[in-house]
Order: sequence, then C-alpha cells, then structure tokens
Amino acid sequence: MAYASARLMSGAFRSVGIEARITPHSSADTLELGGLVSSGEECLPHKVTVGDFLRICREPGFDPQKVAFFMPTAQGPCRFGQYAPYLRRVLQEQGLGDVLVLSPSSADGYDGLGDSAGEVMRSGWMALVVGDILAKFQLKTRPYELTAGDTDALFEEQLESIEAVMAKPNLSPSRRIARLQSALIIMRDCFRAIPARYEPGRPLIGLVGEIFCRLNTFSNEDVARRIERLGGECWLSDISEWVWYTNWRQQQDIVTEQGRFNLDYLKHCLKTHKQHGYEHSLYAAVRQDLIGYEEPQEVGEILRLSEPFLPPQGCLGEMVLSVGKTIYLYGKGADGIIDISPFTCMNGVVCEAIYPSVSGACELLPIRNLYFDGVNRNVERDLEIFLDLARAYQRRKTRPRRYPAYFEGVARLSK
Ligand code: SF4
Repeated sequence: MAYASARLMSGAFRSVGIEARITPHSSADTLELGGLVSSGEECLPHKVTVGDFLRICREPGFDPQKVAFFMPTAQGPCRFGQYAPYLRRVLQEQGLGDVLVLSPSSADGYDGLGDSAGEVMRSGWMALVVGDILAKFQLKTRPYELTAGDTDALFEEQLESIEAVMAKPNLSPSRRIARLQSALIIMRDCFRAIPARYEPGRPLIGLVGEIFCRLNTFSNEDVARRIERLGGECWLSDISEWVWYTNWRQQQDIVTEQGRFNLDYLKHCLKTHKQHGYEHSLYAAVRQDLIGYEEPQEVGEILRLSEPFLPPQGCLGEMVLSVGKTIYLYGKGADGIIDISPFTCMNGVVCEAIYPSVSGACELLPIRNLYFDGVNRNVERDLEIFLDLARAYQRRKTRPRRYPAYFEGVARLSK
C-alpha cells in the first residue's frame, strides 16, 4: 500500500479495537531479510513485504501470539496469490507459526475480514479514498513549492490529524464521513497556503503499473520525486482504482455464475452504491482543487479504453488498468507515461508488448516501462531521457492539459 493509505487503514483497524500499526519504513535490512528467505525469482513486493514482517519479528519484546500480519491475497493469474501462503510457510520455518496472517481476498471484494469485517471495510474504504486524496494534494503541490520540504512536512502533519479521525471508535459511518470532510477542508486550506509558484508548462507524467511497486516509494526508488527534480509533475494511479476493478470482477463472476436475480448480486450492488456514496462525499470537500486531475467516473471507462488492446473480459489484472489508464491520461493532456513494475512482473511484461500500439494510437505519446528489483540501477539517466521525450511530445500534442484555476494565467480560485 501507499504510505498514507496504510497509515489511515491502520487507524481504521484501531477504531474497532485492533492495535494496528504499519510496518516500519523499508530499509536495506528489509531486502537482506527478504532475500534470505526467497530464491531470487520471486517478485520484489514479496521480498519487501516478507522482509518488513521479519524485521518486526526481530524487534525486542516481539510476542508471536499477540501479533497478526495483514497480507491480502487474490485468485488472479499472477504470483500475488502466493504471497500469504509463502509468508505463512516462512514464519512456520522460522518457528513463528503462532503469528496469524490475516488474508482477505480480492475474489470476494475483500469481504472476508472476520467479525469486524463490515466496519473495517467501511472505514477502510474511507481510508483508501482519503489516502488517495492526500497523495494527489502532495503530488500537485510539491513540484511548485517555493521552499523545498514544505509540502512533505504538511503532508505528514495532515496525515497525522486525519489518522486520528480514522482511529476514533464508535462513530457511525455518517459521522465519520462528516469528520473526515472537516479534516479534508482543513487539509485543503493548508495546502492552498503553501507558498508556491504555479506556472503551467511542466511535463505531466502519468505513473501506472503494478500497484505495490507503483505506490511504494522504497520499491520504486521514489520515481515521482526524481521526476519532479527533473522538472516534471506526476499523476499517480491511485489505490481506489484497484478496488473498483475487483468490484467489477466480482460482479462479472456473480452474473456469469448466478445471473442478476439473486442475493449475492443485490448485496454487491448495495456495497458498490455505498462505496460510491462515501467516495463522492469525501471528494466533495476538495473537488474544486482537483480540477484538471479528475479520475474517471467509474472503472468501466478505463476498461472500455483498454478493450481494443487488452479486452478486460479475457485479460485479468493490473495490465488492463495500466493500458486503459494510459489512454485516459493521454486524453487528460499527459505528456508521458511511465509503467512502474517489479522485474519479471507479468503485468509489466504484457503491457510492454502492448504499449507501442497504444502509443501509436495516442499521437506517439512517450511510454516507458521501468522495472525494479531492489538492486541499484541508473534510473536517473533513464528518467532524464524520458523527460526530454515528454517535452518534445508536449510541444506537438493536440490534447491540451486543463490546469486548475490557481495556476498563473488561469482565473483565481474562488473559495
Ligand atoms: S502483479 Fe507482478 S509483481 Fe505483483 S505479484 Fe503479480 S507478477 Fe508479482
């Protein structure tokens, strides 16, 4: 997960009495410990997550009977479904078999969270949406700040405040939404107050790809920040997109197996309706500041864009989202797309084969795959070249970018 979403999700767990916290920031120890229990052929996210969990097992006072690790799973075609069983095996082999691995699945839209499932799912969804919003504010402000570090400092400060709202127990969903809206308005105003020079012209780079590597700054060597230093601005595909996709898949499965007139379909529709409602309410507090950064109304829009290249009925997983989102961002005036994937990730490999056709259909929009395996590589040089290509594309593109009103030369933002 992305850092902000994970922090807020841990708050959602605490709100139902589970003493949750996020794993410590990944480090060289993470890769070393993860490397000791993997063969070298696994995906980087596996190595990073196992390494981080093992670091916790080595903390002073660690009690295996009082700890559970949260590691979702999936039944899709890739290796992610193996992460949780593999983690259980590693823990077993290390004499830590008492540690519980909590493992909800994307097959049932992550419904299987146990007794507090309903409440955790509701507030967990709010956590993911708010985490996405916070990340958007960070990415749209940081490239333009006048004093380096202002945005990141405010991001941390606001994250802490919002996490406290997430962790409040005994709040009905409507009261939690109301409190989150108030917190988001404060967050929005604080971001507006950061001294910044909003001048149009920076190349806008869309970041798509494998969800963990794309969102985890340790794994992707902080690509977004590097792009900003080279003069670009990033639009990062968010986490909610994946949840909407798993919902869509769940609906497809229900319809295929049982048709539309059954309890499962009704429950699914109600859940989706609620999720849309929460998302809409949370975005309402900040919508004006996100003009020009609008996500698709529904995931079907991305899937329709992907259809001519990777039909979503036949191709499962993030590859359809990466391809569809690339075309969506082209329409929003992006100047280049970087697909971030772990080395050997099948989603990245499939997309890499498709991207030349996608680029051809999008006025030769520059699209580049970047693979990460936890070993240092010269990502800076690759990005420098890519930013040059993006600038050349920017000069000849026909799809203009819509800038928010607070950019110079655009009407003042009305409060
Ligand atoms: S999406 Fe890629 S990196 Fe992630 S588990 Fe699947 S194959 Fe591995």
